[in-house]
Amino acid sequence: MTEKTQRLEIVTPERKVYSGDVRFVVVPGVEGELGFLPHHAPLVSALDIGVMRVQEENRTFKVAISGGFVEVRNNRVVVLARTAEREDEIDRERALAAKARAEERLKARTPDIDIVRAELALKRALARLKAVS
Ligand code: ATP
Repeated sequence: MTEKTQRLEIVTPERKVYSGDVRFVVVPGVEGELGFLPHHAPLVSALDIGVMRVQEENRTFKVAISGGFVEVRNNRVVVLARTAEREDEIDRERALAAKARAEERLKARTPDIDIVRAELALKRALARLKAVS
């Protein structure tokens, strides 16, 4: 790790999604995007459903996450996410199907539909599609 990088770990209850040295990382905080350069001040924040942008030495990639927490300390950024998929892992067809399903439910709005649940499913699908676009 050089002066210009920081450690990034992305984990979910299921698996380690990413671990590496990065120059810059942006996460979807609940109150807006948060960007971290190396040696950032200590911080803990809740995360929204959205897209992370990760800048390594020689490449940039995206990660879709569905909420969680970020902790920054000692030149280390740890993202604990409910779910997380790197852009190369995302099944676009599956996300498109989830989006269509959620939109259908929101359109129907019958009494048995859980609106909040459908809205969250739609938001997750849109984040995944944004990460692969
Ligand atoms: P679906 O209705 O397609 O299951 P969902 O938003 O309800 O979507 P989640 O509960 O957020 O799915 O995730 C369940 C698991 O499936 C997690 O491990 C997540 O990483 C994975 N996952 C969900 N959608 C995709 C996708 N489009 N591509 C790859 N992995 C996915």
